[in-house]
This record gives sequence, C-alpha cells and structure tokens, in this order.
Amino acid sequence: MNNLWDLAIIGTGPAGLSAAIYAQRYGLRTIVFGDTPGGRLSIIEKIENYPGFPEGTTGPSLGLSMFSQAQKQGAHFTMTMVVALTRKGEHFYIRDSLDNTFYSKTAILACGLVPSFKGVPLTNKKGIYLCATCDGPMFRGKDASLAVIGGGNTAGAQVLQLANVASQVHLLYRGAQLKMERATLNKITKMTKVKIWTNVDIKEFLGDDSITGIKFIINGEKEEQIEVSGVFLAVGWETRLSFIELDLHKSPDGYILTDNSLMTNVPGLFAAGDVRDTDLRQVISACADGARAAKSALEYISNFF
Ligand SMILES: Cc1cc2nc3c(=O)[nH]c(=O)nc-3n(C[C@H](O)[C@H](O)[C@H](O)COP(=O)(O)OP(=O)(O)OC[C@H]3O[C@@H](n4cnc5c(N)ncnc54)[C@H](O)[C@@H]3O)c2cc1C
Repeated sequence: MNNLWDLAIIGTGPAGLSAAIYAQRYGLRTIVFGDTPGGRLSIIEKIENYPGFPEGTTGPSLGLSMFSQAQKQGAHFTMTMVVALTRKGEHFYIRDSLDNTFYSKTAILACGLVPSFKGVPLTNKKGIYLCATCDGPMFRGKDASLAVIGGGNTAGAQVLQLANVASQVHLLYRGAQLKMERATLNKITKMTKVKIWTNVDIKEFLGDDSITGIKFIINGEKEEQIEVSGVFLAVGWETRLSFIELDLHKSPDGYILTDNSLMTNVPGLFAAGDVRDTDLRQVISACADGARAAKSALEYISNFF
C-alpha cells in the first residue's frame, strides 16, 4: 500500500519528538504531524528543571534541538496538522490540513493541551502566566503581589508555589466554593499572605503594556480593585481531540486513558505526554512517555504485523 507507515506521531512537542527519536532508532518508519517544532516548548521563556542544563535553557532552543535530533534520526515531518484520524481495516487512516492522506500500522497521540480561558477577559497586556513552577521564581525577592485565577487543584498548587516567592497572593475564583483538595485548602486558608476571593466576575486587567491590577465584581454587586504585577491562570487546560473519529476512552475531565504500555483502548493507538491521564505534566515526563510509547508501538507491530 502506498504511503503506509509503521508509526504516525501526532504532535511535535517533547512527547512526539522523543517518540520519533526512539521509533527511528528501533527501525520503525515514522511520520510526524504538527506545525510547531517543540510544541509548547516554543513559548516557554526559561526551563530550569530539565536535566542537563545547569544554567537553565530557553524553551525554543530545547524544542528546536529535540526537533533537529528527530530529523537527524530520519523521522519524516509533514509540518501539517491532523484533521482526521480513524481506522480503516487493520491500519490507521490520517488526513492532514493539506488534505493529504496517510496510513499507519500504529499511532501515538502526543497532541498536548490547549489553555482554557473560560471567564477570563481577553488581553494583550504582559503579565499573564500559565505555570507557577516555571515563571513564579522570577518574582522572588521583588516584594510582588500576584494573583491566581481559578479554584481547583491547579490553582491551589499555584498559590502554594507563589506564596514562596511573593509578598501577597490573591486567589480569585468565580464560584462560591473552591474545588481543590481539602488538605491544600486548609494550607492556603492558614497563610496570612493569601487572600481568597470567591464569586468573582473579572471585568478588566489594569495597566498599559503590563498588568498592574485587576478590576472585578464580587457577589454580583461590589466592585473591587487589587494591585498585582503578575496573573497566573489556573482556569484549566483542555484536550482538543475532535479530529479523532474513534471511540476513545477518556477520564471525566477529558484526558486520554492508557494502560501501563501507554496503549489506549484502541489497539495500536498510544497516548503520550500532557494529553494522557497522568499526574505530572512536565517536559521530562512527556519525553519519558514518548520513549515508552515508541517501544510499545514496536512491540505491537512485532506481535500483530
Ligand atoms: C508557560 C508554560 C511553561 C512551562 N514551563 C515548564 C518548565 O519549566 N518545565 C517543564 O518541565 N515543563 C514546563 N511546562 C510544561 C511542558 O511545556 C509540557 O508538559 C510539555 O510541553 C508537554 O509536552 P507534550 O509533547 O505532551 O505536548 P506539547 O508540548 O503541548 O506539544 C503538543 C503538540 O501537538 C500539536 N498538536 C495538537 N493537535 C494536533 C493535531 N491535530 N495535529 C498535529 N499536531 C497537533 C500541538 O500544536 C503541539 O505543538 C510549561 C508549560 C507552559 C504552558
């Protein structure tokens, strides 16, 4: 059959690129879809927790190195997005954004997440961050007042992390009851530097080029204004999997469920990285997932083709 690949990888982030490097070295004919070399790495200013870089590194340079390494191993990159993935007979059928079609014996979903901006006004001011682990440390020693928007476990974790670097942390949540684990809630309610606001309707981010404050309404009536130099969004992340025309099992919050070999409920279809139902969403875990999924794809092909 024309255009039949051993492995199709959907996503050019750390998970997809690691899978490509491993798969090529296993001798699998590998095709990779995605239009952003490095995936989410391309927007990360500084990465200080990925081993091998004592002084840290920038996301784009790490992403491009991974991309070049996968290219050097011989993986084929389409630089297009997948618009349809389904099964035809014993193969996966893939259609891309240029309307090209491909077939593959196995596939790895390494398509990451997209940020959720539910209830947050759009802004192009500087000072909006998505990751307290990554960007929080830059406020250390600056007597900064920061805000976290959200009410779940991610928001709780961000508040705990930012409390180590900021002089004040505001937690703003649109609901009445925070949804985070009780242990986290107990910790943050005891912290004097943390102020919790509930029933919040955010109206505006204040400031010219950079955010200097937030204007919001609480309980539908009282207007409040706080000064902050950074806003950490923890409204949530979402999977975007509408291109998959297969009955894929997912967790209640939409992450792809896998077994220990990272295979989904669809035989021969694997998931790796942030898109998977996992408790650590970082570069290092995405890379490890990619390597494991490639090995599992190799084993699947050896057993079934
Ligand atoms: C602001 C920020 C800072 C961070 N800082 C750190 C840090 O310091 N250290 C750390 O370890 N982690 C950090 N992370 C987390 C880290 O970026 C992710 O855990 C990691 O990138 C996940 O890798 P991935 O390959 O699973 O997904 P991604 O990196 O999200 O890559 C997925 C790729 O798949 C592509 N894709 C999606 N759908 C399709 C489709 N239909 N067809 C083709 N391609 C598709 C996407 O466009 C994307 O390029 C940070 C995250 C953010 C947002």
